[in-house]
Order: sequence, then structure tokens, then C-alpha cells
Amino acid sequence: SPYLLKGQKALVTGASSGIGEAIARNLASSGAAVVINYHSEAQEAQKIVDDIKTANGEAFAIQADVSKEDQVKAMFSKMLQEFGTIDILVSNAGIQKDSAFIDMTLDQWNAVIGINLTGQFLCAREAAKEFLRRGVKPDISCAAGKIICMSSVHQVIPWAGHVNYATSKGGINMMMQSIAQELAPHKIRVNSIAPGAIKTPINKSAWDTPEAEAKLLQLIPAKRVGDVEDIAKAAVWLASDDSDYVNGTYNTICRWWYDFVSRVYREW
Ligand code: NAD
Repeated sequence: SPYLLKGQKALVTGASSGIGEAIARNLASSGAAVVINYHSEAQEAQKIVDDIKTANGEAFAIQADVSKEDQVKAMFSKMLQEFGTIDILVSNAGIQKDSAFIDMTLDQWNAVIGINLTGQFLCAREAAKEFLRRGVKPDISCAAGKIICMSSVHQVIPWAGHVNYATSKGGINMMMQSIAQELAPHKIRVNSIAPGAIKTPINKSAWDTPEAEAKLLQLIPAKRVGDVEDIAKAAVWLASDDSDYVNGTYNTICRWWYDFVSRVYREW
């Protein structure tokens, strides 16, 4: 509904492609004004802004590397200047730098932890400061603010060959729950989405040929690779008052079965 998030201001990190783009577009079509954060894809980000505006929505783009404290602070200042406040943060930006464990360089480790985990810490902290300053606005939402962390099924399913990535997502899971516990008395809600395999640029090689997709489907008992819309719909729900009594939870959006998948991953 175009009224579900009416009057709310949202920031989506890593929103120039994939899951972040779909979330930004769906938040906008649900009535939120949206900041499209991007790292290097300025044109793609501007196209999303233009599309949202054409559909009578409100959006603008901000370049920032979420792993850099000064850039995150500058992004929040700019958002507060333009939109006045923030109601919804979707910390989505994430990367993979895959390597066999013994060959993994410190740079590969630091890059993934820096963007996937520290980036979410920096953004959540800035959002929480503004939520606490502003408090609940009953005409806008029952909550003083909502944070949605993008995790992965690999927050709980070990992932050989991706130790840095799985570690970052495991960290997000505990960070999300601890922030939720600390901020719940202030009516701030913090939840995460832990997607299974979703077709996006991050994992293109795993689904862009029939052979690759068939191999991937071996890991998915329900035999369907996820679509970005599956995640975007969950994000809109978590951002809305429809989920007002949901806090500190991870929402596994996939058609996987944990025991099955962890066994297959070991054998893979
Ligand atoms: P994607 O590569 O399309 O999206 C990642 C986005 O993060 C890109 O837009 C990229 O530009 C941005 N980004 C990278 N470094 C950044 C930085 N330093 N600062 C700001 N933005 C930066 O892939 P995606 O699949 O849409 O991934 C989005 C999130 O979903 C990631 O956190 C990823 O771990 C998570 N995820 C994806 C899947 C999947 O199957 N696709 C599954 C589980 C979790």
C-alpha cells in the first residue's frame, strides 16, 4: 500500500543493485522517502532515484563507503539536512572476497569484516542517536525507529571457502540481538533478514547458466532460487507497524532446511 510507510524517512545502504535496490524501490512504493546509498555506481543509483520520482515518490542518492566512519557520519548529516530525520535504516551493503582459508589475506579478511560488520555498526549507531533524540512520533509509527540488518543464512550455516563472509554474518546476528536488547526500552526495533540464495550480482556465477543453477538447486529442497522481491517484501513488513511486536529476531527468507543444508555444504 502506498500509505503503509507514509511520512517515514528511510536509508538503504548498498542500494544501487540487487537486494538493496529492490528494498529501496519497495519502501518508496510503500510511501517512504528514501536515501539510496551507493559506493561506486552513481549512474545506477541516479536511475533508481529518477524512477522513484517519476512514480511520485521521494528519493535522493548519497555516495559513501559504509566502512569509513567519517563518510557514514557525513551521509547521516546530509540525510538529516534533506529529510529532517530517519525512521528506517536498512543496513544492506555487503561484499564477498572468497578464498581458501590458508590463502586468505588479511586484506580480504579486513575488507569483508569492515564493510559487512563494521559498516553495519557505524550506520546503526548513527541511526540510533537520531531515534533517541527524536523519540516516537505517533502519527508516523509506533516505534522511535527501525533498523533492519541484512545478514545471511551463513550467520548460522558454516561456509567453507568463505570464512570472512560467514564470520561477518555471524557477528551481525549477535550485534543485532544485543542492540535490540539495549534499545528496546526506547521503542526502537532491530531485526535482521537472513536470506538464502537470491539471484543478484553478488552470486551471478552460481545461477547464470543452467548447469550452475541446477547445482545450486541441489541445496534448495523447495527447488526455487529466491528473487529480490522475496526479500524486499519482508523488509517492508519489518519496517512497518505490522511487525511492531517483532524485535531482536532474524527472519530467514529462504526455502532451505538448515540440517539438510549444513550436511550438503559439508559434502559439497
Ligand atoms: P550486490 O552485490 O548486488 O549488492 C551489494 C551492494 O553493496 C552493492 O550495491 C555494492 O555497491 C554495495 N557496496 C559494496 N561495498 C560497499 C561499501 N563499502 N559501501 C557502501 N556500499 C557498498 O549483492 P546483493 O546480493 O544484493 O547483496 C546485498 C546484501 O545481501 C549483502 O549484505 C549480502 O551479503 C546479502 N545477502 C545476499 C544473498 C544472495 O544470495 N544474493 C544471500 C544472503 C545475504
